[in-house]
Amino acid sequence: MKIVYSPKFLEHETGMHPERKERLIFIKRKLDQEGFRDYVQAEKIKDKDLLIVHSQQLLDSLKLNSEMEKNQPDNIFNKNTFEIAKLSAGAALTAARIAGKEFAFSLARPPGHHTGTHTFAGFCYLNNIAFAVRMIQKEKNVGKVMIVDFDMHHGNGTQEIFYDDPSVFYLSLHQDPHFTYPGVGFSHENNEHITNIPLPAGTTDEDFLKIFKEKVKECFEKFKPNMLAVSAGFDMFIANGPIVGCMLNIEKSETFFEIGKILKELNVPTFAVLEGGYDLPTLGENIWQFLKTFK
Ligand SMILES: [Zn+2]
Repeated sequence: MKIVYSPKFLEHETGMHPERKERLIFIKRKLDQEGFRDYVQAEKIKDKDLLIVHSQQLLDSLKLNSEMEKNQPDNIFNKNTFEIAKLSAGAALTAARIAGKEFAFSLARPPGHHTGTHTFAGFCYLNNIAFAVRMIQKEKNVGKVMIVDFDMHHGNGTQEIFYDDPSVFYLSLHQDPHFTYPGVGFSHENNEHITNIPLPAGTTDEDFLKIFKEKVKECFEKFKPNMLAVSAGFDMFIANGPIVGCMLNIEKSETFFEIGKILKELNVPTFAVLEGGYDLPTLGENIWQFLKTFK
């Protein structure tokens, strides 16, 4: 297993915003305690490469907001925000490139799954996983890729980008959008290659794992992907409740180990990227539980 990282991710300064640099500091500390050393530097990408998933209009607005340090609802902008968001997308691509040989995790921020073709939102600037998937499809001719998203929130940006692209399957399990940001991700939005599974408040570890296992296997067998890309969010854990309005009842860190195991057993090249997860005291342990499956 390799972890893609750059200390530059700590330079995206957001103050007391929930998506803050301390997330990575806490995770890194846990990985150090566990003796993990196998890091790979995130690769830089070119602006024009981003056009594989985003419009020029989005890139221009990110650049302008960064230059002017103009904060938007949910999104903080500093002079270096666009550059660091690009490095986060580059980290996802680095992980995808490694996935052919071994599992790789992009330990990067800012996250990405709420950003669509033209619009950034919800702590996200560029859609890291969508960018990595399209680029690796082009570079390595991998064909069909399945994205599994277990962040507490629906990855509306990822769904939008791939909605009419049958080469990518998007499976997302998330808290019921009736009362959760971003207010989409209902099962009536599903198509042949998009499957949304909204989860009711009170969903337990056992409930979650049962449905996760069933749906991952069902979609995998139907779609037969050559690669797996994982939007790994850790905000469904109960301690995130007050921060992001999580009403699920996921209270065991081992649940993330089980999630990793289910994905590993599919036995295809796999990479994962960090999405949400904001409760600092539990974040490191939960991520480690997920990662240690792939060691
Ligand atoms: Zn989230």
